[in-house]
Formats: sequence, C-alpha cells, structure tokens
Amino acid sequence: MEKIRIICSSCQKTLSVPLEWEGKKVRCTQCLHVLEVSNIEILKKLQEMNQNKLKIKENKDKVEKKKKTKAMKKFL
Ligand SMILES: [Zn+2]
Repeated sequence: MEKIRIICSSCQKTLSVPLEWEGKKVRCTQCLHVLEVSNIEILKKLQEMNQNKLKIKENKDKVEKKKKTKAMKKFL
C-alpha cells in the first residue's frame, strides 16, 4: 500500500498514512490532534520531488567517488 507523509499542524510530527485515507481524519500519534488528510496530490508531488533530489544527490556521490578513485590511481 502506498503511503504519504503528512505533518501534524499542532506538533509538526510527520505521520505516515495510506493514500486511500484522503479526505479522512486521522489522530496524531503524538499529541492526539485530529487532522484531515488532504492535499494529497500536492504532498505526493512534493514527495516525488524530494525523491528525485535524493537520486540526483546519489548520482553526484557516485561521480565524486569515481573522481576520487582516479585521483588515487594517479597518486599510486
Ligand atoms: Zn501532533
């Protein structure tokens, strides 16, 4: 089941809820504040954007490693 992260408007805790819960109300596990699961499409896009950012970072790390290996070879 796909999950989405929502942030409690009361205590800022990040809650993980199933996508199917859109429009439903959930209780924050930390402060028991009741919040509605809404704007899921926006949240989903934000999440995807963050994942893409992570991917880009991973690729950069790989390139960095390659550069380092090359430098090491030259040094040896
Ligand atoms: Zn809360």
